[in-house]
Amino acid sequence: MLKAKAEQGAYVGKAPYGFVKDHVQKNRLLIDDYSAGVVRRIFDMRAQGIGCASIAAALNSEGILCPRSYRHMLMGVEIPPKKWIACSIYEMLSNESYIGHSVRFKTGYFSYKNRLVVDKPEGEWIRCENVFPTIISLETWEAVRKMQNNRPERYKSWKNEAKSLFYGLLRCADCGGSLIHKKSYSKSRVTGEVTNGHSYICSKNQTTGGSVCSRHTIREQALLDIIREDISRQLESISIDEYKIAREVQRCFNGESLVEIKARLNQLTVRLEELDAFGVTLYEDRLNSVINIETFKMLSEKAEIEKSVLTEERERILEIISSEENRMAEIDSIIPKLRDFLSMEEVTRETLATLIDHVVVSESEGRSQNRTHDVRIVYRFEAVA
Ligand SMILES: [Zn+2]
Repeated sequence: MLKAKAEQGAYVGKAPYGFVKDHVQKNRLLIDDYSAGVVRRIFDMRAQGIGCASIAAALNSEGILCPRSYRHMLMGVEIPPKKWIACSIYEMLSNESYIGHSVRFKTGYFSYKNRLVVDKPEGEWIRCENVFPTIISLETWEAVRKMQNNRPERYKSWKNEAKSLFYGLLRCADCGGSLIHKKSYSKSRVTGEVTNGHSYICSKNQTTGGSVCSRHTIREQALLDIIREDISRQLESISIDEYKIAREVQRCFNGESLVEIKARLNQLTVRLEELDAFGVTLYEDRLNSVINIETFKMLSEKAEIEKSVLTEERERILEIISSEENRMAEIDSIIPKLRDFLSMEEVTRETLATLIDHVVVSESEGRSQNRTHDVRIVYRFEAVA
């Protein structure tokens, strides 16, 4: 059904930015003057060699609503407006609807069962030419194609990101967005030596040409140094911490140590068993009329009170011992992981991800060699704060 419609050049789904759906003939597209004007500006800017992120920055600085927010505005939905980002502009620049062609089913589900959206081979696309009103002239379209094909290799794939060491682990302290990987290149002023490295930059800055957040750039090596330093400090503080825990436990048990607490637990267990046995004897004595009813009541009440007091103390001790042991076990399992990390020549993403939940990066202060970063590391374990 969907495919049949697409083959006739009818438009199925949401109208692309720049168009509106015809109210009478539901599957026809009409030009929306305002957004079509924005589309033309985007293509013109790109044809002049302006990059996608800079185009996004220009539109954001003028307060022009991004496609999604514009659609919400038309529908009267009140949602805080979103910003233009480079990759949606990048996608618009290759949308053939703007030169009147309908190309559908460029993506589809991986299979009937697996609903993962995948790019389909070009042979499976359904295209119909000259079925929509045109927004962009063919000359502009071709000029943009030339620009897009000459893009430096590093910009060609938005998917490179998945391979970086800190992928998904870094957060911007100011906008809360993630930091994304970027190849960095620097040349020494003294020796002229070129170093290629990796760095990370706030994704909101990168995709909006700086119109939403500042750069927050940090070199991968600087991050690793900071983490190494922090981990060796953690290792030192853990051993100090162990004494601190022992002292705290002592304080809450009137000067008793963990060993003494465990001894007290044994006493309690023995006494509680005695009380249970005493209850049984008492009951039998009463049945055999060895004791009268008043004595039975008095003795069993006394035993019940002692039992409830001791049970409460026993539970409190058990709780302390188990949380203490969990903490010790956690510390025991973490220490070797932290030591391994420090001795690794090449850190892997997997190791980082087992130790670190995320890292919050603030904007740096100072310049080049003297640049400092305020970095907060959030570890995956609770025993070490
Ligand atoms: Zn940011």
